[in-house]
Formats: sequence, C-alpha cells, structure tokens
Amino acid sequence: MPTSHPAGPGRAPGRGSARFPVLDPATGETIDEAPDQHPDELDAVVDRAHRAWHGWRADAAARTRALLRAAEAVEAAGDGLARLLTREQGKPLAESYAEIARTSARLRYFADLVPRTRRISDGRPVRSEIRWRPLGPVAAIVPWNFPLQLASAKFAPALAAGNTVVLKPSPFTPLATRLLGSVLATALPEDVLTVVTGREPLGARLVSHPGIRHVTFTGSVPTGRAVAAGAAVSLARVTLELGGNDAAVLLDDVDVERITDRLFWAAFRNCGQVCMAVKRVYVPARLHADVVEALAGRAKAVVVGNGLDPDTRLGPVSNAPQLARVERVTRQAVADGARAAAGGHRLDGPGHFFAPTILTDVSPGSEVVTGEQFGPVLPVLPYRSLDEAVAAANGTRFGLGGSVWGTDPDRAEAVAERLECGTAWVNHHAELSLAQPFAGIGDSGVGVAGGPWGLYGNLRPFVVHRPEES
Ligand code: NAD
Repeated sequence: MPTSHPAGPGRAPGRGSARFPVLDPATGETIDEAPDQHPDELDAVVDRAHRAWHGWRADAAARTRALLRAAEAVEAAGDGLARLLTREQGKPLAESYAEIARTSARLRYFADLVPRTRRISDGRPVRSEIRWRPLGPVAAIVPWNFPLQLASAKFAPALAAGNTVVLKPSPFTPLATRLLGSVLATALPEDVLTVVTGREPLGARLVSHPGIRHVTFTGSVPTGRAVAAGAAVSLARVTLELGGNDAAVLLDDVDVERITDRLFWAAFRNCGQVCMAVKRVYVPARLHADVVEALAGRAKAVVVGNGLDPDTRLGPVSNAPQLARVERVTRQAVADGARAAAGGHRLDGPGHFFAPTILTDVSPGSEVVTGEQFGPVLPVLPYRSLDEAVAAANGTRFGLGGSVWGTDPDRAEAVAERLECGTAWVNHHAELSLAQPFAGIGDSGVGVAGGPWGLYGNLRPFVVHRPEES
C-alpha cells in the first residue's frame, strides 16, 4: 500500500527531480514516472499553442482531415492505450477499450461538425451575417476517472472549432494521456495539442495564464470554484463539469428482477467513480427489502480484481485518497445507523480494493446521501409518497442527472420530467449520445458540453453587418 500520492502536498522537496511516480491501484506498485513540469514552463507551451493556432484555424477542411486521421491513429494504438489505462486507473480492460472507442468516435463526430453561418434580418435593408470564430488556446483539465474519454470531450470540439489545446491530466493518471498525446501528434500539426503533466500548482497556473482563452474543466466542486476564480484573472471563458449525486427513483410498478442488473451497473461501473453514476436509490417502502436483497445479491456475486484479469468486472478504487474517502463516508453512514447488506469494508491484500457495498437503514442526512461518495457504495432509501421521493431526489445542491424506473415508461417519464437536473433517464442511467448537450445545474456545473453545443462552446460569434446595395 503506498503511503503517499502524486497530488501530494504540492511542491514538496524532491520536485527538483522533475518526475513523480504513478501507481497501479490494483497492486500499489509504481508503474512508471511522469514529468513533474514546472509551472514556469507554461509560458513557452502556451506561446507555441498560440503560434500553432494561426495555421490551425485557417483551414477547416484540413482540420477535418487531421481529426479523422487522429481517430484512426487512436484506434490503431488501442491495445497499448487500453492496457496502460487499466494499469494506472484500475478499470477492467473491457471498459478501457470502451473508453478508447468513445475517444475515437468523438474525434470522428466533431471532425464532421461545422458551425452554421446564418443571416438575420430585422426588416431593414441591412445584411447581418453571423459567422463563427475560434477563441485561441484552450486549457483542458481532466480528472482521473475517465482520463482519455473526458480529455476527448474537451479537445475534440475545441480542435474542431479551430482552437489549439493544452491538456493537463490528473497526476494520478498521466501515463495513458501522455501516450494518447504522442499518438495524436502523428496526425495533428505540431503544438496543436500539447499534454502537460505535473503536480499543483501546474493546473492553477494554466487556468490563469493570460494566453488561455477558454478553460474547460472536469473535476470536483471545490477545484471547479478555484478554477473559475483563476480564469477570472484573464477573463477566459469557463466551462465546468463538476460533481453529481444522481438519484434513481423506482416506481411502485417496477419489475425488480428485471432492472436489478442494469441498476447495479448504473451505480457500480468504473467502481462507482462516474460523475453521473446512480449514487442514491429511492424505493417505495413496500418494495424496499426486495430491492436491497436483489442489489446485495448482485454485489456479492460480482468479481472484483485486477482490471487486467479477463474475469474482473469491478476493479480497485482508483487511488489511495479516494479509497480513504469511500471508507470514511461508509463508516460515517454506519455510525449514523446504516447497515451494510453487502460489503462495507476494504478487501485484504495489496491494492485499493473496497467490497461493493449496499447500504440500508441509511439516515437521509448522512454524507453518503447528501454528498458524492464516488465509489462502490450505494445507499437504498425507502419512500412513502412520490412527492417525497421527488423532493428527496431534488434535495441536494447537485443537478447532473437522475432516473426513474417503472414498468409503464410513460408514467416513469412523467416523473422524470420533475427531476431538477441536466439529463433524466427512463429505465436506464448514464447513457449519453455524442450528439446531445451535456450540462449540469447547481453545483454540477457551468456551460454546456456535447453535440453542437460543445462545438459552439469553443467558438465566438462574429457578425458582419452591411447595407444591402439596391
Ligand atoms: P479534482 O477536482 O481533484 O481534480 C480535477 C483536475 O483538476 C485534476 O487534473 C487536478 O490535478 C486538477 N487541479 C487540482 N487543483 C487545481 C487547481 N487549483 N487549478 C486547476 N486544476 C487543478 O477532481 P478528481 O478527484 O480528479 O475527479 C473526481 C471529480 O470529478 C468528482 O467530483 C466527479 O464527480 C467529477 N467529474 C465530473 C464529471 C462531469 O462531467 N460532470 C465527469 C467526471 C468526473
């Protein structure tokens, strides 16, 4: 078990060696080291990104070709990327392959997306034409749960729009991103996308760098606040995709047996480390015991292990601080009166393993309900009236997603309408189309990613206004 983590206490002694270790969460062993870049290096990086921007923005057809080549290069490098991603992040290999497939699909999707030039008229004899212009160098800051997929959600629309990108992965998962950067470099012009790695304050300096024109960040709420404050220094545009505490509301006509597997994986995929995972389940009181038993049975049966093992369905928690958080939140829930119907504890042996946990008799005020556990722990709470369930589902500061489950999909959809969030699902959860907008409300974020909205989030309107010649 490692005793320290790379985000560490910041610029500790030893940073002079300019590298930091990256650990395998399944074994606790060091996989490799990554460059611990000094924030002062950012001046040259952003300067090169700015110079590369002038060529990149000039030719939309060349951009499309380069992004399609980039998608092919990612696919060709899939095996190496997937293994490295599993080793540093912990997820099962099949999920790493899915993440890489999503990355290349996103490059293809945005390669073909072009902003629409529009003419508008207010009845006067003038011609107003709205065109779209890129912003300049974009800073993309990414967390450790989906290092490649979330990076692509930022760089694919930013590049397609004609911007250049400086990408900073989490210090817990820099290796696959660095490899991805070198794969993309085979398809993109020099300095169009640059990966920088290092511990804080590298990210803080990047978001407040005067040469950055858009900061697109995915991560936790407190860091999001710091990022918004940092970007305010240079008045860069800010897009924040932050935490979530999605509720799943089961209706009284739900077929428990039929939905258990889907509901379980909506909560436990990637070891629960998904912003839009199901993080709370609300169940009619008369079905509560059945749902707890069904989910607990599923949790006890799941194969937990090293993500490289083909039998593994659930890997380790991704890093030591996150494991400590999951353990603390679970212990607190038990101290508040909860009972673990499955799991509730770390697993023995090396690595950051936590038994998949189903909690019942949970106090609604426990942090596992009010906050974001971001791990393999799921509280199941009973409700007496639908109004009570909807109020509870809407009762946190988050508003990323939510879902409603029942045999009558129209009735479930009518309840889903009442959820205060960005995406509401019926009878499933956390499925997204590349073409849809993705946005949270409240503490879940600012701005819109995904689909054409993600492209326009990386563009500014430019209006040409002239009299019509008669
Ligand atoms: P985090 O906020 O700790 O770190 C995110 C990134 O910010 C990392 O790259 C980190 O190094 C960097 N960073 C840290 N301090 C910084 C600073 N002062 N300035 C700039 N950058 C800084 O988040 P995490 O623990 O890596 O990720 C988990 C969180 O991400 C969860 O809250 C989860 O819900 C959220 N998340 C949200 C979405 C979404 O789309 N809404 C998706 C995935 C994860």
